Amino acid sequence: MEIYADLHVHIGRSKGEAVKITASRDLTLQNALNYAKKVKGLDALGIVDCGSEAVLAEITELIGAGVLKEAAGGGLITDDGLLLVLGWEVELGDVHYLIYLPTIEALTELAKTLWPRTKNPRLSTQRFAISPQELRSVAESLGGLFFPAHAFTPHKGFYGRLVDSLYEVFDSPFVAIEMGLSSSTEMIAGIRELDPTTFVANSDAHSLQKIAREFNQLEVECLSFAGIKEALEKEKVIANYGLDPRLGKYFESGCLRCGMPGETGSICSTCGGPIVAGVRPRLEELGGFGEGRNRPLYVKQIPLEMLPYIGPRTLEKLQALGTEIAVLHKLPIEQIATATNPQVAEVISQARLTGEKKLKISFGKAGYYGRVEL
Ligand SMILES: [Zn+2]
Ligand SMILES: [Zn+2]
Repeated sequence: MEIYADLHVHIGRSKGEAVKITASRDLTLQNALNYAKKVKGLDALGIVDCGSEAVLAEITELIGAGVLKEAAGGGLITDDGLLLVLGWEVELGDVHYLIYLPTIEALTELAKTLWPRTKNPRLSTQRFAISPQELRSVAESLGGLFFPAHAFTPHKGFYGRLVDSLYEVFDSPFVAIEMGLSSSTEMIAGIRELDPTTFVANSDAHSLQKIAREFNQLEVECLSFAGIKEALEKEKVIANYGLDPRLGKYFESGCLRCGMPGETGSICSTCGGPIVAGVRPRLEELGGFGEGRNRPLYVKQIPLEMLPYIGPRTLEKLQALGTEIAVLHKLPIEQIATATNPQVAEVISQARLTGEKKLKISFGKAGYYGRVEL
């Protein structure tokens, strides 16, 4: 079966307490699961704060109450048939990694190893006193997956700020790697040491609206952790759907203080502030744009909330038509025009793969998103 999977979504609050301070308050586990399925149209959702004490307790309770059911191949299934993938984003030596585990037992086991090695096991994406090599082997021995998150960003990205080659840290390639919002398949396929590795696109959502701004269309044997794991191991990826990378927050280099463009390695000519390296110039250095092997299709998408002419009322009308994935990629444009207006229909039509080049985009930099210009 074909499924849509976004494997990197945070939790703002769990059991009344903050899990991720920078995430929105309504980003609770139940809201995320509902929104992902009904509003966005996803089949699988990776929650990457499952290792937080509160979230782990909440999930355990929901299993006990029968709200979440354990799937035969691992992972948890909601009432309306969404797969929850148990994930854990961690920070090791200034780099973020993603861990995915098959069962709540495996997660609890990993928590026993990790909680004593951090200051605050209740919060999201904490630093742990363990080497990446050791944590990778623990996660894999529990039947899990381990790979770098938003690998090319200057902010906590493995290639973005730590290494030129993965072999500086690890002795074997990753099953998968998360591209991050500011890059795309064509920007990284030239890194030949990643030839054995599957590219994934995930939203890294800190709010409900941002779920599914990136996701993967996978071919799986069954809707379970095992299905997802096999799809990544064997690159059973039909397509990655991701932001036009120019919209990402770190596409080009820019000043952290004033947001003006600048050269990597210099100081800002406008205000003298520090320049944050962009993902595009970093990938030039790494050879990402060079010739690579054949890769699954990368579909550039622009989420509804980033498109012009779409305010809250139009968004409601579009949501009444179908899921966001359906509106962006599937529904006939005439149907969208009838439900809204020709202007909205035109902008969605331009945002689709073939017309996408028509939209003018100003690129993101230094932590500011790029924008679709009118
Ligand atoms: Zn991260
Ligand atoms: Zn994250």
